[in-house]
Amino acid sequence: MNEIKSYWQNYIDGAWVDGGAGRVEVINPGTGAVLAEQALADAGDVDRAVTAAERVHLSGVLTALRPVERGRMVQAMGRYLLDRVEEIAPILSLEQGKPLWEARIEVEGAARYFEYYGNQAETVEGRSIPLGANYFDFTHYEPFGVSAQIIPWNYPLEMTARSLSAALATGNTAVIKTPELTPLSNAYFAHAAEAVGLPKGAVNILCGWGHEAGAALSSHPGVRQIVFTGSVRTGIAIATAAAQNVVPCVLELGGKSGAIVYEDADLEAFENDIRWGIYFNAGQVCSAMSRVIVHESRRDELVERAVAVARSLSVGPGIERGEMGPTMGAMVSEAQRDRAADMVAAAEGQGATLAAGGRKMNIPGAFLEPTVLSGVTPEMSIAQEEVFGPVLSVLSFRDEAEAIAIANGTPYGLVGGVFTRDLDRATRAAQKIRAGQVFVNEWFAGGVETPFGGYGKSGYGREKGREALWNYVQTKNVAIRVR
Ligand code: NAD
Repeated sequence: MNEIKSYWQNYIDGAWVDGGAGRVEVINPGTGAVLAEQALADAGDVDRAVTAAERVHLSGVLTALRPVERGRMVQAMGRYLLDRVEEIAPILSLEQGKPLWEARIEVEGAARYFEYYGNQAETVEGRSIPLGANYFDFTHYEPFGVSAQIIPWNYPLEMTARSLSAALATGNTAVIKTPELTPLSNAYFAHAAEAVGLPKGAVNILCGWGHEAGAALSSHPGVRQIVFTGSVRTGIAIATAAAQNVVPCVLELGGKSGAIVYEDADLEAFENDIRWGIYFNAGQVCSAMSRVIVHESRRDELVERAVAVARSLSVGPGIERGEMGPTMGAMVSEAQRDRAADMVAAAEGQGATLAAGGRKMNIPGAFLEPTVLSGVTPEMSIAQEEVFGPVLSVLSFRDEAEAIAIANGTPYGLVGGVFTRDLDRATRAAQKIRAGQVFVNEWFAGGVETPFGGYGKSGYGREKGREALWNYVQTKNVAIRVR
């Protein structure tokens, strides 16, 4: 791997620039060492970025393109990323902590969004509405203009790709506010935009503090649409700012998702769901399987299997052990790791049993052992609050009504899961679970094609799938009197 450059600037109106708020040190959470410095934007930088994006929008250059041409540019951005997986993945791994093999999956996942939404560009079609002999009426869809996208640190590339690709495909321009902890790899979206010939100012990528650059962006009057992925607290602040300017926003917030495991479930196969559902990205996944709600007759066997999965993982810095890295990497920061460890300790204090892991690892970096808590009950804080770490909570139920009540018994509703060989049971539960997506017999089933988003405090609006296109367009109806 090449040396990582020591200072990264923001990309505003087609130029790489310093930030009005100085710089922040980006830490490699796998070692605790400083990786690089990142320029931090202030409100003035945000204003320049929004003004540039607005100028490009008003020039009409993107809307003048045939959708298929815009779609091809969007797809070319994805190919640009794919051609550089081996350049981008190490940077992502070093800034975020995930193993190199997971970082490669994320770069490929980011590219996939550009492929998918590039393809969808020419499917956004209106309709004609019959109004009788003397009228001709049609409806079509126009982009909002400047889309502001505020990104979290857990999947910085995929989260930006998800909203940026759909926004560009539908003819919008964008200002991306990257996360303070993991801003570096997002620079490749600027390189990609340049490489495919998007006009200067169409895509702006800047990092800054949430309360400064993030707040300035979400309240900027030039912004016409906001996409936010992150915590509930910030989501509320952003929705409030959006309301002041009367602009729509999409909120993808946290989760406390549960898998209901019935007595007839294939527990051997379920080991794989545990491995991916809660230990992928060290559990820092909004749709993580953070609770397993298992029938009491299978509880002991399930805990035993979960402990075996947790103990089978190798944990270490994202780039080590040659090509692949460990099976689980660092958490994003020591602060996040400490918060998760404190939540585990609180759960023990409330009566949960530590079946595996649970301790900070005695090596440099932000490492928490893959953890299994058994004997968790629904009212414990560990069963109610998002941990955002590699911590599985095992709860049990006696009958279906209780299982559903536990699954639905948090303020969140991002995803849910059902594991059973009985199709009727699965269908019944899928209908009753209050969540935007339900996985049956495979956690994380679905893909870029399937709509994703929350019920309750997990947010509103949908990303992914064709549904997401409607976030980025507004409806115009043209009613013509024919004389
Ligand atoms: P966060 O809310 O602290 O930060 C997210 C982003 O918002 C960052 O870029 C931050 O700088 C910015 N921000 C912070 N305060 C702001 C403000 N007042 N105004 C505008 N912007 C502001 O969240 P995080 O800690 O980075 O991410 C973890 C959270 O994100 C978890 O709760 C997780 O569940 C959620 N998440 C959800 C999804 C999803 O798709 N639903 C995906 C990933 C993460």
